[in-house]
Order: sequence, then structure tokens, then C-alpha cells
Amino acid sequence: MACTQIFQSHTSSLRPSSGHHRRSFSLIVRCTTTSTTNNQQLITSQQELHKKATSFSAKYVPFSSICTNTPTQESYSLDEVVYRSSSGGLLDVQHDLEALKQFDGKYWKALFDSRVGTTKWPYGSGVWSKKEWVLPGISDDDIVSAFEGNTNLFWAERFGKKFLGMNDLWVKHCGISHTGSFKDLGMTVLVSQVNRLRKLGQPLSGVGCASTGDTSAALSAYCASANIPSFVFLPSNKISMAQLVQPIANGAFVLSLDTDFDGCMKLIREVTTDLPIYLANSLNSLRLEGQKTAAIEILQQFDWEVPDWVIIPGGNLGNIYAFYKGFKMCQELGLIDRIPRLVCAQSANANPLYLYYKSGWKNFKPVKAETTFASAIQIGDPVSIDRAVFAIKNSNGLVAEATEEEIMDAMAKADSTGMFTCPHTGVALTALMKLRDEGVIGINDKTVVVSTAHGLKFTQSKIEYHSKSIKDMACQFANPPVDVKAEYGAVMDVLKKFLVKKL
Ligand SMILES: *Cc1c(COP(=O)(O)O)cnc(C)c1O
Repeated sequence: MACTQIFQSHTSSLRPSSGHHRRSFSLIVRCTTTSTTNNQQLITSQQELHKKATSFSAKYVPFSSICTNTPTQESYSLDEVVYRSSSGGLLDVQHDLEALKQFDGKYWKALFDSRVGTTKWPYGSGVWSKKEWVLPGISDDDIVSAFEGNTNLFWAERFGKKFLGMNDLWVKHCGISHTGSFKDLGMTVLVSQVNRLRKLGQPLSGVGCASTGDTSAALSAYCASANIPSFVFLPSNKISMAQLVQPIANGAFVLSLDTDFDGCMKLIREVTTDLPIYLANSLNSLRLEGQKTAAIEILQQFDWEVPDWVIIPGGNLGNIYAFYKGFKMCQELGLIDRIPRLVCAQSANANPLYLYYKSGWKNFKPVKAETTFASAIQIGDPVSIDRAVFAIKNSNGLVAEATEEEIMDAMAKADSTGMFTCPHTGVALTALMKLRDEGVIGINDKTVVVSTAHGLKFTQSKIEYHSKSIKDMACQFANPPVDVKAEYGAVMDVLKKFLVKKL
């Protein structure tokens, strides 16, 4: 199999932010006359790497041992079907860092950069270009990939200048991806591992998940391409039409349940203990291994310059930890010398982490999540709460929240500067605007807002906003179409009136 995807960010949208833009290492290697020696060095070390590749390994350990930084005897092979530690806690994939440290930071940067845009399976994928850090033990033939990752890091020049006076603001468009959300990054890893387990003879009839929409879309697409049955538990009437149609089209067995996400989650957990169906929820730590590559990719796209802030919308709270893990691994392996401060942005209608943060981390209580336009984060009892708290505390991070009106206005503002954002991105943009207002984020801070899904999955909310049909909302940035008679005179009148107003 070959990949033809080109990594565009280096050349198209990555533009100078403060006048000291450098071209990436990989491009220099390919373009300059000294490339032969550089390439030769790289290839030589790559051969060395392949000889040592078997020494790279990863295993499951209890997340609590990572959290408290205490050694543990408890660990499981990634080839076991296990989701929880013996005490019922979360698991984490732990890499053999000593093995990875046989190579210095410079080497890893050069290796990752050399794979950008490659046609060599599976390294053209943004996830599998970091294979040694993700799933070192899997054979290339078992990998199920749709060339996820390598998403655009967009310089939000106009949005930043117009609304915030900021010049170094970037939006990482993780939603410009195979199924339209960052969930592809994790699902390629999980489904690849299931593919391997089935080939090894594990009796797994399929993979299942509860979903607020995007997880099921990613799961069903990756499973379908590997011919693995998928089972999807969805809350009826709580996800967008575009999200619902994806698993249906990809041939998943879809159960529409009269409950919310938390109810679906509870059921799938019970069902997967009794049936040989692999559980694909973000409780499953494999997915985070793929998602963490988005953090590494951001650094790579900045030529390994570390941003000051990264703002991530959070629901079940796996992704915020995945970003932390990606940055932290780069620091531990010598690619960078500090990590960014992380901000988790929640919808005010589903804000258990925000409330916990505001209480000074004193009292965590799940909430009953209310309806929000940011439907993928309408979660009241997040599975990865401990992971998120760990990520926030260890990155000197923050938590912020956004009301429905703030979400929709932020989206409209961003869209008016050429983006096409989803409501979750609206949550993160609101957090940015609030932290700018409060002076927490400085005007010159290098800031990345993570856009988690494609705006085209959420057109209904945009239609309602721009037609001003949302109850109790001013929709002040609505831009509704003008009804005009199909006559030259009428059209000219309307245009002239508009132009006069503009000039
Ligand atoms: C899943 C999802 C999130 C939330 O990610 P968590 O890891 O659950 O915090 C945010 N935005 C979109 C679009 C999603 O699909």
C-alpha cells in the first residue's frame, strides 16, 4: 500500500509569526546540495534503529503509579484484553523510555521530519510516523490507517488581530481528517491493535463504543476498512445528523438508546464484560497513544519551538491528557526543554472539571450534563477525570468554561475570518478570549487552539444561529441571506444599499 498524502502545513499555511520563521529540517534535507551526507547519516542511523527496534516496547501499567510516580509490579502486555487495573483504576500505556533514550532528541526530530509526506507504508500517517513512540511492537501489515494526522496548523492571523490583538495565534485543525474529528488519531491505534489480536487468535467478535458521535464515526470507518464488526451505542436525538449517518453508512450495528451519553457508557461497559466485544471508549488507553501525536505534530510544525499555551475542549477528558503526554514525552526524550501550559475548555452546561478546578481541587462531583451545542462534550461524569487533573496540574494549566451564547458567537467570529469551526472549537476560542481579557494569556503569547471536529459536521447549529432561530440568543453575528426578487432593478437596489453602508 502506498500513501500519496502531502503534508501541507510546512509550505502552505505555516507562515512567519514573528519574523524568525525557519524551514523545517526535512525540507532542508531534501532541497539543499548537502542533502546527500545528511540523508546518508539519517539512513545509517535508521538501519541502526531497525536493528534495535525490537528493544522498543510498551505495556499497560496502572495510571495511579504514573500519577504518584511510584514503581509498580502490576503491568499487562498490550496483547491482553484489559481495561482496568486490579484495583479498578485507569490504565496507562507506558513506554520503555530507556530504550528510546538510546537516541537523542536531535535524532528523533530528524526521523519524524524525514517521514513527513512519505509514501512508505504506514509512515505517511501523522500517527504512524511516530510508530516507535506509539505502538512499537505492531507489524506494519497489521496497521489499519487512513493517513490520519498531519493536519493543518492554521495561522489565525485575522481572527487574532481583529478580535484579540494577537499575532501569534494558531488553530490546529484536527477535524480535517478521515472522519472529520481528532478521534481518528486514537482509533487507528486501537483498531490496529484489535486487528493484531484477532490475527493472533484472540476470540474478539468485534469492537464497541458508546459515543456522542465522533467516536462511533471513527470506530465504524476504521473497523469497516479492516473488516471487523463494530457496535455503536448512541443516545437518541442527542447527536447531529451528520454524525449519526457516518456509522450507519460504514455498516456498524447501531443501537439508538433512550438515554444520555453517560447511560450509553454504562451499558456498553456491562455488555463488553459479558460478550467478546472489545471496548473502544477513551477509558481505553490505547487511543490516547494516537491522540498524543497531535501534540508532537504541533511542535514539529513550529520547527520544535514550544508554544506558551495550548487550549483543548474537554468532555470525557482523555484528549487533554493525551496532549500532556505527547508534550511530556518530547521533553523527556530531549526534543524540547519545556512544555506548554494546557487549558481545558468546557461547556458551562457540562462542566464537572471546571467546578472541581474552581473548588481548588477540593471536591469532585459528577454533574448532570445539560444539552449543549458542543454535543461531543456533553458529559457529566468523565471517565478520564484523574488523567485531566494530572495534566492540568503538571502543566501549570487552567480550566475555563463557555456558555451557549459565548460558544455560538465565538464560532461565528472565527468563521467570519475564514475558518469553519465546530461548537467545540467555539468552546476553546471562548476560553482564549476570556483568558486574554483577564490578562492571563499575554498579547504576544504563542497560543494554539485545538479544533477537534470539522464544522461541516455541525451545520445545523450554524443554520439556526444565522437564521436567528435560537431561543433566548441574540445571535449578534448572524449573517442571514437576503431575499430579493429575481429582477435586475431589485438586485441592484440591494447591492447599492449594501455598498453604501460598507464604504
Ligand atoms: C470527543 C470529542 C471531544 C472531547 O474529547 P475528550 O477526550 O472526551 O475530552 C471534543 N471535541 C470533539 C469534536 C470530540 O469529538
